[in-house]
Amino acid sequence: MTNQTDFITGYSPAPESTNLIEIKERYPLFIKGKFSEPQSGKYFSTINPATEKKLSEVAVANQADVDFAVKSARNAYKNVWSKMPPKERSKYIYRIARVLQERGREFAVIESMDGGKPIRESRDIDIPLAVAHFFYYAGWADKLEYAFPGRKANGLGVAGQIIPWNFPLLMAAWKIAPALACGNTVVLKPAETTPLTAMKLAELLQDIDLPPGVVNIITGAGDTGIKIVDHPDINKIAFTGSTDVGKIIQKSLAGTQKKYTLELGGKAAHIIFDDAAINQAVEGIINGIFFNQGHVCCAGSRLYVQECVAEEVISKLKDRMDTLIIGDPLDKNTDIGAINSKMQLKKIIEITQSGKDEGGVLFQSKCTTPKSGYWFKPTLISNVAQSSRVVQEEIFGPVLAVQTFRTVDEVIEKANNTPYGLSGGVWTDKGAKIFKITKQMRAGILWANTFNKFDPTSPFGGFKESGMGREGGIHGLYPYVELS
Ligand code: NAP
Ligand code: MG
Repeated sequence: MTNQTDFITGYSPAPESTNLIEIKERYPLFIKGKFSEPQSGKYFSTINPATEKKLSEVAVANQADVDFAVKSARNAYKNVWSKMPPKERSKYIYRIARVLQERGREFAVIESMDGGKPIRESRDIDIPLAVAHFFYYAGWADKLEYAFPGRKANGLGVAGQIIPWNFPLLMAAWKIAPALACGNTVVLKPAETTPLTAMKLAELLQDIDLPPGVVNIITGAGDTGIKIVDHPDINKIAFTGSTDVGKIIQKSLAGTQKKYTLELGGKAAHIIFDDAAINQAVEGIINGIFFNQGHVCCAGSRLYVQECVAEEVISKLKDRMDTLIIGDPLDKNTDIGAINSKMQLKKIIEITQSGKDEGGVLFQSKCTTPKSGYWFKPTLISNVAQSSRVVQEEIFGPVLAVQTFRTVDEVIEKANNTPYGLSGGVWTDKGAKIFKITKQMRAGILWANTFNKFDPTSPFGGFKESGMGREGGIHGLYPYVELS
């Protein structure tokens, strides 16, 4: 596959080598420290969305498989993990972090092949952040008495964890690291389209001799997820995914004793004032929405620009969009990779078209896209109303909806006017303005003069339909402990 690099930049292709990676033809379920055939007897394929070629097969976990995984996690909790001195648990988590760091390149290449994201992102963002999460929570494992002074923190038992496809390994790390640090054991289900780095992680867990059953990784579609949620012997559910599925899960959990956290969708607003450093803001906005093809829950998918600088900002955004390189995710020049699945591409096309039908004006980058695979050109849509679907609904693709504003009250009203409340950004030269605006924005994560910066020490989570509970930082320990 070639990139559009020659046409724009003159760079020659620089694809990352796939020689050093190993993808097995088939991955059974990882339960009790071993890869075992699913009792369902069924497998499904995972493909590379940039080529539509099959990469491997993974198992479908049915009820008997889920029961086996939960039982294995329960036994490991009772007999091994909850009894182990915290310092020893900490050593295992450090070991995961170190070995993951050593094998980072292999994980990055597989992440890009299975999910479609540019290698620059999987190599520089996903994998290093996953490593950082394991290091960070390894540090907490034997210091919980400092996180909760004067109280004793006990693990809850078995955590059922269900994750999406946009940051596959990173989401696994967000879930597994705090659970283990607090003394819980885990049954984790990766998303259907991106199971491979989770299965590689399972191999790594075997290599570092993590006691059998402490982490069990089972694959399957939504149906397997439901069986985890409904399992009576699970103490805590951690879910990251869409708001629709989050609501279904919340209903199933109502009235049970299970603790839960839900990290759901978003529709983040950037607010850019006339006193902002415009070039810096343009770069941040480009990064905020086109990074990872817009497959980011906290993507800056709405832009509110102060009217007096709107023409300048929009013109600079368009110029920058035209230089973005779309194509082979394994090419180090690539800015924008493949859309994760055919289904996701269909959804992006449908909502974008609705914006056009409602009178929106579309601008798309000049680039051409490869013939096979799933692609969507970076898109800016202006002349849209606040009630438009492209402003209200999560598109989860590289589509930026732009509106203008005149007053602070107006822009706060508009920024808060969606069902979501996950993240947002403010661009201005004035520190006082940053505090004034961000205090009134109803979003769990707010950035000023930057965007999409993540750190394991910082809590992450949303308001309203973006979910409940926090992951990351000390806050990320709470959902995994019982305090006495
Ligand atoms: P999704 O369709 O909700 O799926 C998420 C996970 O849940 C997948 O593993 C999925 O399995 C499973 N699942 C599907 N139906 C289920 C059910 N009824 N019960 C239990 N599990 C079920 O979401 P997605 O399309 O993978 O991910 C994109 C969404 O995730 C976006 O809305 C994005 O904003 C959100 N997200 C939020 C955060 C955050 O921190 N707030 C972070 C990342 C992503 P299958 O894949 O096999 O269907
Ligand atoms: Mg795949």
